[in-house]
Amino acid sequence: IKEADISTYEDKLLQRDKEIGSFLSVDIKKGYDLAEKRGELVGLLCGVKDNIAVEGFPLTCGSKMLENLSSPYSATAIKKLIEQGAVVAGKTNLDEFGMGSSCDNSALKITNNPWDTSRVAGGSSGGSAAAVAAGIVPCALGTDTGGSIRQPAAFCGVYGLKPTYGTVSRYGLVAYASSLEVIGPLARDINIVEKVYDIIKGEDDRDQSSVEIEEVSPDVKRIAVLRGDLGLDDAVAKVYTKTEEGFKSLGYEIVDVELPVLDYVVPAYYTIATAEASANLARYTGIRYGHRTVWAENPQELVEKSRSEGFGPEVKLRILLGTFVLRSGFQDKYYHKAQKIRTAIRMALDEIFKKSDVLLMPVFPTQAFLHGEAGLSSFQQKMADKFTTTANMAGVPALAFPAGQENNLPVGMQLVGPAFAEKRLFDTARAFR
Ligand code: GLN
Repeated sequence: IKEADISTYEDKLLQRDKEIGSFLSVDIKKGYDLAEKRGELVGLLCGVKDNIAVEGFPLTCGSKMLENLSSPYSATAIKKLIEQGAVVAGKTNLDEFGMGSSCDNSALKITNNPWDTSRVAGGSSGGSAAAVAAGIVPCALGTDTGGSIRQPAAFCGVYGLKPTYGTVSRYGLVAYASSLEVIGPLARDINIVEKVYDIIKGEDDRDQSSVEIEEVSPDVKRIAVLRGDLGLDDAVAKVYTKTEEGFKSLGYEIVDVELPVLDYVVPAYYTIATAEASANLARYTGIRYGHRTVWAENPQELVEKSRSEGFGPEVKLRILLGTFVLRSGFQDKYYHKAQKIRTAIRMALDEIFKKSDVLLMPVFPTQAFLHGEAGLSSFQQKMADKFTTTANMAGVPALAFPAGQENNLPVGMQLVGPAFAEKRLFDTARAFR
């Protein structure tokens, strides 16, 4: 993008986004001014999920709580992109604070799936996935705590990478469940996903959980495939089998594996995620920043009223669940048990990666579902997170890729690897294309 073209681009973007609703705010001029005018990504327009800080842009997290917040600084991942010339076009929609699988939990906007606007784009990074799927921007950043990059990527037919935990700095990412989440790229072109990941990764003094990247062999010969009843919809089951056959005909060795721990992943994930969320979201008091109620008798009431008015129902539910599982005397019953399951998941994947180089899994048991009541209930959505949350619980990388089409809707699959094996995932997905 060149300076002279900014307003034309912006008009086009807004026009195309009318039907989709992927962006919460757009300001290409501001993004252009922030960006270096040279580098490996010069002029690349990027959408950024609205829970990642970009200096001078809103940082709403899809919540009424932060509706009027403007970020005074940029996240490390954003600084790295900008240094390479990328232009932030605006901020994309999400389920409030990243909590959800549809974007319908955003307090600010509905995002439609570009393939069928009566359906959801997925979530929580649904705005980012829809924006790249509709060709509105070539690249977007999302965040993945329990599938939020991969599930919308699968619903919208694009690539989305959840990197190894700690390889991309969380500095400037608004915390939901800190031990699970990571920033990652989405694009229609896998080469853009790889390039952007290479630029945003790296150890960061500002994030104590960020890690030094250890090299692992990029070679892939053996692909593990899950056996047993996975509870998939027909369309997804069909594409899973076809993808396996596709890899087989490309010369990969298929290794049959089972992952019985899958049945325990979701309860353990929601125990840990809500526990961390209840602590992380305690900072929104209406006093230092965020929504403040108009009138209160005393400070206690001020906090209570500000929080009841500022947070949506799903966020409240999760804060309550989190305080429930953490309350004194009950930690052994829920939280510590969940941590044990987390270790079991990591060990089960370790075993799989002794016999194979990558694991091929579905992303979600269904295709993009309908908005509202006609779609999946909030409980069904949570149960369906079992394939995605597995990678977050183990901290390992996973790449969602477009694997097929059924019922005029895309179906995505994911490749999961051991820690730091991102290159394996890119190469294997590229071979399938
Ligand atoms: N469906 C997951 C949840 O609601 C998605 C979380 C995420 O990755 N931000 O927790």
